[in-house]
Amino acid sequence: MESGIISVDRWSQGSQAYFLTHLHADHTRGLTPTWKWGPLFCSRITAKLFPLKFPQFKLSLLRVLDLGHWYTLPLFSPSSGQPITVHVMAIDAHHCPGAVMYLFRGEFGCMLYTGDFRWERTSRRAQIARNMLLNALKQEKLDSLYLDNTYCNPLYSFPSREVAARQVVNIISSHPNHDIVIGVDSLGKEDLLHYVSQVLKIKIWVWPERLQTMHLLGFQDNFTTKTSLTRVRAIPRYSFSIETLEGLNMMRPTIGIMPSGLPWAKEIFKGKGSAFGPSPSHSVTCTNRKKPNGSLAGGQIYNQYIYTVPYSEHSCFAEIKEFVQLLQPASIKGIVASSPSYVEPLYYFGKFCGKKQESSMLYQKLWSEERVERVETIQIKSATKTTNSNLQGKKRRKKQVGLLVSHVNRVSLLRRLRRGIKITDTDFPAYEDNI
Ligand SMILES: [Zn+2]
Repeated sequence: MESGIISVDRWSQGSQAYFLTHLHADHTRGLTPTWKWGPLFCSRITAKLFPLKFPQFKLSLLRVLDLGHWYTLPLFSPSSGQPITVHVMAIDAHHCPGAVMYLFRGEFGCMLYTGDFRWERTSRRAQIARNMLLNALKQEKLDSLYLDNTYCNPLYSFPSREVAARQVVNIISSHPNHDIVIGVDSLGKEDLLHYVSQVLKIKIWVWPERLQTMHLLGFQDNFTTKTSLTRVRAIPRYSFSIETLEGLNMMRPTIGIMPSGLPWAKEIFKGKGSAFGPSPSHSVTCTNRKKPNGSLAGGQIYNQYIYTVPYSEHSCFAEIKEFVQLLQPASIKGIVASSPSYVEPLYYFGKFCGKKQESSMLYQKLWSEERVERVETIQIKSATKTTNSNLQGKKRRKKQVGLLVSHVNRVSLLRRLRRGIKITDTDFPAYEDNI
């Protein structure tokens, strides 16, 4: 593939067209108010939210792609100067508001970059997106799949967001005299908050910038910035910690709810660090509260003040597997390289690929107390070399899991710290000015 043509969620100078999957911070690193390197393609909702995140950004650079339409971009080959064409379609990723996948087509073949996505089996929206993707592909083979592999490990088995949302409601209902804080990011989980508000008939406090976002997304009446109006508050995830909850409980009885797929693996990775903040001195216990029929009554108790609920905006392992099985791509690359239980997707899904890929040693487990990192390609070199663990930094430790040991060279480790994937190719055809 030739460099200098298109980039997805990667913002360095040198491409002719840039694609943003969604506005989460790990996908916009490198984007600044003064960024100017080319047209930036995104969904309509992302474009609407964009000025909130980047107030001084030159909005004339934005190009909106409506879902389910093919757009044609006239580009050129940097090496030959010859015109080339890329066709692109945005498809609902059902992750946070505005999140899309990009399906690219050209003489290079067919590539799908999922960004972050959650396609639940029971979701109507996911079904529509699935049909859109299959119709777009028709009988064409998918050559490359860049996959959201955040939870690409059988350890991650969690229910649909609908079920998890009911667990959140159950927890709040069973604490009628408590204040409630729910940890959320600056974007995402709006449907959860809206559901809680509707079912319990209460407003939810959000911080002022979050209220602006809610209003832009059309959630007008359920949210407030007045603490006196409600006992339920959605607070920034970065301020959600055991210490915060301890402090709040010195004033009023308060419980915290963390909706996330991540703490769900805590049972397995006991003592490997806190997902909620640097609290190594606190003992962590995870307890399933099961009803007699076996269903979870209300998430897990993380500590005496905190519940975790497996409300995830990333697909669980079974959903990822179903997705790959459906598409049967010729090659797969994970876009997330350091998660609590990282496994190269080919380890599990190589059998679904049309052609064989190198899979000498594909299991790697990196523990990170921080958010996941976006990367380029994962390079697994050998099953016998040792890893330069110093390069992984203080907070990222290599683990051995059974007989499966990761072996990563210096180059691949450095590459992991890069954001996004630069997609380039040699050949593309003609343009329609329809964006
Ligand atoms: Zn995301």
